[in-house]
Formats: sequence, C-alpha cells, structure tokens
Amino acid sequence: MTIRNLTTFPQPVLKQKAQTVEVFDEDLKRLIDDMIETMREAPGVGLAAPQIGVPKRVIVIEFGHEDDDSIPKQLFVMVNPEIVDSSGEQVSGIEGCLSVPGFVGEVDRARVVTVTGQNAQGKKIRVRAEGWLARIFQHEIDHINGVLYTDRAEEIWQPEQEETDSI
Ligand code: ZN
Repeated sequence: MTIRNLTTFPQPVLKQKAQTVEVFDEDLKRLIDDMIETMREAPGVGLAAPQIGVPKRVIVIEFGHEDDDSIPKQLFVMVNPEIVDSSGEQVSGIEGCLSVPGFVGEVDRARVVTVTGQNAQGKKIRVRAEGWLARIFQHEIDHINGVLYTDRAEEIWQPEQEETDSI
C-alpha cells in the first residue's frame, strides 16, 4: 500500500465527472488499498478517487461511532456508487474536506440515503445510511461528480480549531 498525495482545490480533477469503473482487476484493488491507506494517514473519514488525482468512480469510508470509541470502525468500499433513494428531510451540518484544507462550511444533506454500487470484485452492494454516515456518502458521491461541498455551502470559514473530521 502506498500513501498518495492529496489533490486540493483548485486542481481540475476535482471538478470533473469521474469515469465509471468497468474492469475489476488488480489495479483497482491497488487503487482501493492506497485510498484506504491515504484516508487513514490524512486522517479522514472518507475519500474519493479524484482526491488522489484519479478520475474514477471509487469511494472509501471508514466510520466510527460518534460518541463511543469502543465500537469498532466500519469500512465501506464502493465502486460506481449511486444514491437510489433519499429521505425528503434535509439536515444541516458542518463539513470539512481533505481537498479544501483549513476550511469548513455548513451544508444541507438528506438525513437518510440508500446507496447502491459494487465492491472491489464487482459484486453488487446496497447500503442504507443515516445521519453522519449518510452525509459522508453524499459528500463522497459529490466528489465523483465533480462537486465540492464549497459549491453547496452558503459560506465557508476557517475554524480556529478543528471542528469536524475531514471527508
Ligand atoms: Zn471531500
């Protein structure tokens, strides 16, 4: 596994629509392993392939419980993810992004989403996510569509202390 360099705004890859993955081979596995390693090192709770300069529809998320460190973290790897259902209710929350270091902003997101996609072997998977996990999925899927949270937030600012995990 290799820790890759993070791409940051305004590098053009972050504003591109990433390509669908059609080949599930060793190169894809290597990309996913590198993304997990890079996300952990950053540290962040999610990473999309364009954030390491690769314009492909691949995301990784590692999510721990907000209030309880004793609950093991859960790792999600999703290739070609798509939101197929979201609850009408929008909730506002603070987001920071590894590609926009030093800033945070308030963004409205659906509280519940259902995401479908494929795993590293190309098998279909479906995840129903709520709350913070739903927010991370929406943020990462925005990344592969060339959208940054700064495009959605009315205001971004530089917090004096780190307010939130970066995604
Ligand atoms: Zn981000």
